[in-house]
Formats: sequence, C-alpha cells, structure tokens
Amino acid sequence: MRDRHLSRRSFLRNLAIAAPASSLIVAAPSLAQDLPPLATDDPQAAALMYVEDASASTAPNFKPGSNCANCALIQGNDGDAYRPCAIFPGKSVASAGWCSAWAAKP
Ligand code: SF4
Repeated sequence: MRDRHLSRRSFLRNLAIAAPASSLIVAAPSLAQDLPPLATDDPQAAALMYVEDASASTAPNFKPGSNCANCALIQGNDGDAYRPCAIFPGKSVASAGWCSAWAAKP
C-alpha cells in the first residue's frame, strides 16, 4: 500500500514537472510562425515609418533596394513573406517592407 501511495505521489510530481515543459515544447515552434503582422498604424511602426512595400516608402533616409529581407535586424527564415524583427517583438514584418531603422547586414 505504501509503495502504491509513493508511486502515485511520484507520478503526480513528475506530471507537475512534465506538464510545463511539454507546453513550452509545443509553444516554441509556433512563436516565429504565428506572430501577427505588424500594422502600419501601430504607433511604433508609424514612428519608424514602417511600410509593407519598401518601394512605397517616402522616408527621407530610404535607400532604394533596401528592405526588411536584407536588413540586419530581420530574424527567422529567408524566403518567408513575414518574419520576426528585433525592433518589433511579438510581431512579424513583411520581408518586402521597410522602416527607418533599416541597417545593412554586416
Ligand atoms: Fe524591416 Fe529592418 Fe525595420 Fe525590422 S528594422 S522593420 S527588418 S527595415
């Protein structure tokens, strides 16, 4: 009886440890893929003159040919239409987009 009680306690303890770990494993892959697109009217996006189409930028420091895909601050996978950006945590930016924080890749 005592062994049975201990094993149930051990099981519950292990379950308590495993449950949060498994939720992290499930949540981690969805972060980069499921970030909501950054809205151009987001206050920080507007302050940095973010546009989804770099060629439409009217920012005075816009350099033709620059876009999010070739910015040093882009994250995620090459070729994805929307990717995380170090400047806008929790959002994704258009690979074809641009903002005034653009920096050349080293
Ligand atoms: Fe795009 Fe770079 Fe601006 Fe991020 S910092 S929105 S990747 S131009």
